[in-house]
Amino acid sequence: MNNECIFCKIIKGEIPSYKVYEDDKVLAFLDISPVNPGHTLLIPKEHYENTLETPVEILQHMTEVVKKIVPGILKAVDADSWNLGVNNGATAGQVVFHTHWHIMPRFANDGHGLWKGKEYEEGKAEKIINKIKANL
Ligand code: AMP
Ligand code: ZN
Repeated sequence: MNNECIFCKIIKGEIPSYKVYEDDKVLAFLDISPVNPGHTLLIPKEHYENTLETPVEILQHMTEVVKKIVPGILKAVDADSWNLGVNNGATAGQVVFHTHWHIMPRFANDGHGLWKGKEYEEGKAEKIINKIKANL
């Protein structure tokens, strides 16, 4: 637990939330500012800052819970598509530094787009793949 953390406060019940699912390891609740109705956040009950800080057993359980709860979320809002989003680090848009996965139902013409792809400059992909391999 981190006393300053808003999601730890939600886990402790100090801040109210609309709970979607809960077990001994994780909590899922509605995002207060949904990109679409049913937008749900899934968090581990222990405080970890981001995905890489989170033990693999917890991430595995989070994956199992995603598979368990997504069909019900989609049914409730009559969606058949969804995005799983994870912002890791401030530059990537992370605002709350307690691991969380966004489950975001999608609808036709909901005003949200996809990531826009860029092109690699000549030779850049080869350079990057070599650097990545050297760093793994
Ligand atoms: P991120 O930008 O990935 O760190 O996402 C943080 C998310 O937490 C945002 O989508 C916020 O709308 C959501 N959020 C912040 N405070 C609360 C809260 N008290 N209850 C539910 N969701 C929250
Ligand atoms: Zn926390």
